[in-house]
Amino acid sequence: MRLDTSCWMLDTNVMARYVPDSKTQRWIIISPVRNDRPTVAQKPTAYHVCPFCAGNEKETPPELYRVGAGEPNTPGWDVRVVPNKYPITDIHEVVIHSPSDTADVDTLPVFQVQKIFSVYRDRYRAHEMDGQVLIFCNHGLSAGASLKHPHSQLVVVPNQINLDALTLEPFKNIVEEYPLFTTYCPEFSQWPFETWIAPKTDGKKFSDVTDTELPELANVVSRTLRKLSVVLKSPELLFKQVNEPFVFNYYIYHGKNWFIRIIPRSIHRAGFELGTGLNVNVIDPTEAAKQLQKVAV
Ligand SMILES: [Zn+2]
Repeated sequence: MRLDTSCWMLDTNVMARYVPDSKTQRWIIISPVRNDRPTVAQKPTAYHVCPFCAGNEKETPPELYRVGAGEPNTPGWDVRVVPNKYPITDIHEVVIHSPSDTADVDTLPVFQVQKIFSVYRDRYRAHEMDGQVLIFCNHGLSAGASLKHPHSQLVVVPNQINLDALTLEPFKNIVEEYPLFTTYCPEFSQWPFETWIAPKTDGKKFSDVTDTELPELANVVSRTLRKLSVVLKSPELLFKQVNEPFVFNYYIYHGKNWFIRIIPRSIHRAGFELGTGLNVNVIDPTEAAKQLQKVAV
């Protein structure tokens, strides 16, 4: 039996409760408020007002940040940041990728991707002292997106909570080399066509990304997603279990030696993997890198 003393409240609003396992190595967050969020399936499309579309700024909580023109909570923005209405923790923001209801990082022009990543960087910097800053994107229903309008999220987790996150894996199975960044499929790839993007300089945090590095980073992210999209949409892909053309998650590692991990969500996890923590990857990362190298975008 778990002792109540092993749990503690994040704040007095009973937003989230952190619970460790018996070895205090892994934690879970109990967050009932998340259960109230809408799902795409529930929305009656005929009367659906998208809170993230330009012109509907009043449908979100008051704006925290924007790039682009216009006054707060009015149109004119290029990228907009608002608090998450259904937060996981007490700092939980939504980064709305663009006014477009459909175009996402894999299809938006590179200059827009650059704006998104500059906002990630700026919001990371704004919260660096508050705890561990996680930035992630869920693209597609099978990747956990609950609102269709493309967006990312930023969640701050207190420093005391041990995050069971992978650290930077060695550069193997390189897809492309750029002056500042490398894209590769690590030997330790838990998912088919998992692809990582990492800076060539050691010891940096994501907040260290400079304005001069941003254009290359945006270009690398955009190219990598386009390549993955081609491979994952290929009719020859036999292992695919998810009935959406291109579903993915990516996240930015929260600490030193940062990287972006892109995970195409083409398969489901099953009992063996849940029971053992051993993931079965049906695509050898060496082969994944070779296929991605071949794709022209
Ligand atoms: Zn929208």
